[in-house]
Amino acid sequence: MQPRRPTRQIIVGDDRVGRVAIGGGLPADHRFADGSAKPAPVSVQTMTAGYTHTIDKCVAEIHKLTAAGADIVRVAVPEKKDTEALAEILNQTTVPIVADVHFHFKRAIEAVEAGVHKIRLNPGNIQDRAQVEAVIDACKARGVPIRVGVNEGSIIERKDKQARAKELGAVFSDQKHGYMLAIMVAKLEEYLDIFYERDFFDVAISAKSMDATVVIDAYTEIAARFPHPLHLGVTHAGPKETGCIRSVVALGTLLANGIGDTIRISYASDPVFEVEDGLELLWSLGLRERKGAELIACPTCGRIQVDLFTLTQDVRKKLAAEIQVPMKVAVMGCVVNGPGEAEGADVAVFAGDRKGIIYVQGERVATVGEAEILDRLLDECKAFQNRVLSGEVKLGEKRVEIVPPDPLGELGSGWEKMAGERMREGATPLTIKST
Ligand code: SF4
Repeated sequence: MQPRRPTRQIIVGDDRVGRVAIGGGLPADHRFADGSAKPAPVSVQTMTAGYTHTIDKCVAEIHKLTAAGADIVRVAVPEKKDTEALAEILNQTTVPIVADVHFHFKRAIEAVEAGVHKIRLNPGNIQDRAQVEAVIDACKARGVPIRVGVNEGSIIERKDKQARAKELGAVFSDQKHGYMLAIMVAKLEEYLDIFYERDFFDVAISAKSMDATVVIDAYTEIAARFPHPLHLGVTHAGPKETGCIRSVVALGTLLANGIGDTIRISYASDPVFEVEDGLELLWSLGLRERKGAELIACPTCGRIQVDLFTLTQDVRKKLAAEIQVPMKVAVMGCVVNGPGEAEGADVAVFAGDRKGIIYVQGERVATVGEAEILDRLLDECKAFQNRVLSGEVKLGEKRVEIVPPDPLGELGSGWEKMAGERMREGATPLTIKST
């Protein structure tokens, strides 16, 4: 992991909904410095899927996304009836709201007047200088930051019109997507000049594409050229099943390289998945402090003797609903490799022949039938959570360790098969021990 890239910092929100800082950390002598000490935690954004002007539905969707963990929620405002709905939506919600503006600069001004916390502008479809200046002035007057979001799809038609793009095309000629990168950088330079001339620096940048490799290259170039925080995303990534691979490979690569200050994973699916997967990505990279349980589960193999896939899904849902502390919970298909793979888990179950042994921080607490595993495991997780919250125990304090000799014939799982294989290979049989 590379250290986070320092940027200017923008603040999204207000006294009522709270403020989310994006980016930060430039030294005080930087020409765009704001004096912030270090980058803010990477935030997770998403966007409502319904109409903004159907106020009750929009508010309900924003509440759902907030409950899922979204730090910032964006809404589309294609028509005046959408911006007219904003004041009431803002009144009823508790998370910073961004207005997504395309084509009509007046929607941006209306959204700012309604009290929205941030504006997204697309240089590909709001290009008139006087219109851009009017939006900048409205945002400056109210302290509202702007995301300048170039998208591959909406700037492509300009490629034969810009001399600067041709110039930059030569610079990027050795890169696979050189021309696209040139257009994106040129468009951003041209657009941001309008902002700088009006002494407006509360800007975030995005440069999305549906191609993960373009996203990685574009943001890498932009990170090297502009001091602003970056909003990462793969646009039109597709349904969750495939979009998650495309998004995570692009965003994960950039974040691991220290690039990116806020993220939006976008799926052709329920946006709650965008929030859940965005948070999981940040937790996995250690860029945010995990909230709730971390689930470890084995992929199963020929030794499995319970319905582990169903059990794992059920455990995941229950943990998400009932556990708030970042404990590690392991659901393992057998005791053979399970203990080793679940090392460090606070609560673990090792399944056998239609039953499972449950451990809490290395201490064996129960052996139950398959039908009881879910409830008992959850009970143990909740009891453990209470002990953590009361200060009686600490997360990760004890571990399940593998030590010989073996007392574990009782599960009747793939143990005998595995033990037999190990014995044939001349290895010492494994067992587990509480520590
Ligand atoms: S060896 Fe056991 S823990 Fe590992 S995948 Fe197979 S069933 Fe799961």
